[in-house]
Amino acid sequence: MDFAYAPEDEAFRDELVAWLDAELPPFLEAWADAGEDDATGPGTSGVLAQMERRRAWQRKLNEGRWAAITWPTEWGGRDATTTQSMIYSEEMARARTPGIYNANGLWQIGPMIIRWGTDEQRNRWIPNILDADDHWCQGFTEPEAGSDLANLRTLAIADGDDYVLDGSKIWISSAHLARWGLFLVRTDPTAIAEGRKHDGITALIVDMEADGIDVRPIRDIAGEEMFCEIFFDGARVPQAYRLGGEGEGWLVAMGTLGAERVGTAGLAIGMRSDLDAMVNLARSVNPAALDDPSLRERIARAHTDIEYTRLLNYRALSRILRDEKPWPEVPLAKLQWSHLAQTLAELAVDLLGPEAMYAKPSPLAVEQGSWNRLYVFQRYTSIGAGTTEVQKNIIADRAIKLPRT
Ligand SMILES: Cc1cc2nc3c(=O)[nH]c(=O)nc-3n(C[C@H](O)[C@H](O)[C@H](O)COP(=O)(O)OP(=O)(O)OC[C@H]3O[C@@H](n4cnc5c(N)ncnc54)[C@H](O)[C@@H]3O)c2cc1C
Repeated sequence: MDFAYAPEDEAFRDELVAWLDAELPPFLEAWADAGEDDATGPGTSGVLAQMERRRAWQRKLNEGRWAAITWPTEWGGRDATTTQSMIYSEEMARARTPGIYNANGLWQIGPMIIRWGTDEQRNRWIPNILDADDHWCQGFTEPEAGSDLANLRTLAIADGDDYVLDGSKIWISSAHLARWGLFLVRTDPTAIAEGRKHDGITALIVDMEADGIDVRPIRDIAGEEMFCEIFFDGARVPQAYRLGGEGEGWLVAMGTLGAERVGTAGLAIGMRSDLDAMVNLARSVNPAALDDPSLRERIARAHTDIEYTRLLNYRALSRILRDEKPWPEVPLAKLQWSHLAQTLAELAVDLLGPEAMYAKPSPLAVEQGSWNRLYVFQRYTSIGAGTTEVQKNIIADRAIKLPRT
């Protein structure tokens, strides 16, 4: 493998780093009173405080044309290559930039609208997503359609100029804060019974304020209200809001879900600084832990695993760049990342001692409960972007080619 970067990639990195050096410190100073950890407040209010900061950061990024680098130049992007996306994700992690307001909109829904939308749809919604005017959610999962997404059954029946929606979705991130959503619905109710469940699925942009839509936040283990159940009861969605043709929803959605798999490149860098931060903090809050041989061994192993994860990501990337089948490296990189994220969070609470388990607003909470939050939050990594078992199935089936029983 040759990881040397082309001159245009080095120039891309230099421009990004110079921009971050100039813009990030004043931004952080201006928003010093509102941190990423504000989301640990009770219920929705904590999330809202954090989101305003993220909106401001996304707008700042957009001013420099750094919000949606993979989008075409004509829509405010930079036509960035896969390698440049990886450089971007590494440098953002290295600089520990704030989160963005609307990752779903920028990474998934925007590209779908650019690829599949009409001119009218693009002109209406693309600037809105880019400049963080409205929040967007992505409504795919249903109670009986998660890993087996094509089993989705929320009905959308054409009626005049509209579709009429009935059914429910679950685990939809920040739907209670979203003004718009991109939903997969079933327009051909016979398709599942006829054994062609990937057919008859349609992508619709939904106005979340329309009548007949009930959004109910779910309180999670960290006390946050991050995702929701959504119930449709005769909600009307104009046919003009359909993205792509009727029955083309699977095609519309799948093109962009694959992009998630490359987005993990910067995670190893973020993890290394998390590990350094927890060891530094242990020196002051729980120094005895650093003399414990078993914890010392776990720190050393974590260092090695982070480096291994970084190299695995490069291998996965080089497969994608060579247009080769992405296994086993891509599913392995996802497995490795989720395992390591959870291992590090467990190491943090063991290193920092019992007080690391206190959550905000306890005065005893270490660093405002951020380590406690990390510990509970990282459980999601073995579910999001393809569950651990499904990744193992892919490796067994496509890479090792184990026989099916
Ligand atoms: C933090 C978070 C945010 C999310 N945000 C969104 C969102 O914004 N929009 C959205 O649409 N969805 C969202 N989801 C939902 C997510 O896409 C689903 O949770 C995921 O697809 C898994 O589906 P499920 O929860 O129904 O679990 P299931 O698919 O029912 O899986 C349950 C268990 O069975 C295992 N399993 C399933 N199939 C197989 C198989 N064939 N072989 C072996 N084991 C199997 C799984 O690995 C898992 O352990 C989010 C989830 C999380 C955790």
